[in-house]
Order: sequence, then C-alpha cells, then structure tokens
Amino acid sequence: MSNSSPRGRPRSSKRVREDEKLRQRLIQLRGQDVAGLHTIGAIWRRQRLSCPDRSTLQAYVANQLDAEMADYVLFHLTEIGCRVCRPISMI
Ligand SMILES: [Zn+2]
Repeated sequence: MSNSSPRGRPRSSKRVREDEKLRQRLIQLRGQDVAGLHTIGAIWRRQRLSCPDRSTLQAYVANQLDAEMADYVLFHLTEIGCRVCRPISMI
C-alpha cells in the first residue's frame, strides 16, 4: 500500500492571504503609532495631566507669570488646546 498521497505544491494562495492579513495588521499598528498616540499632546490630552489651576491661568492672563510658567501655559492652551483652560484664559 503506498501512502504517498500527492503532497502537491504548498497552497501559495492561502499563504499569500495570511501574509496579507499580517501586513494589514502591521499597517494598522504602525498607523496608530504614526497617528500620534505617543505624542506628548495626545498623552496630555488623554490624561489631562497638569492643567494649570485657575489662579495660574489668571496670573497668565494678567501677565504675572514668569517666562517659564507662561510658556507652559501657552503651550497648554495652544498646542494642547485644552478646552477646560481656554475659556478661563480668555476672561
Ligand atoms: Zn487644561
């Protein structure tokens, strides 16, 4: 009894499909990376890290902050575009 069923060629079409799936997954992962999940802004926005408190914002508006702090608030308002702080800073 010969048990040599024809192994045939590997099913290349299936392999390609698997590869394609993997490729799509990689693109997806990369895309998320590129989309800026790891940018400071995104982390900041997500965690709402370090919103300056109201008095700091008022001091900023009144031009009473030192340069470093003013810079930070400006960054927070413009780069982060914090919706919580922006209205306060516009008073
Ligand atoms: Zn804020």
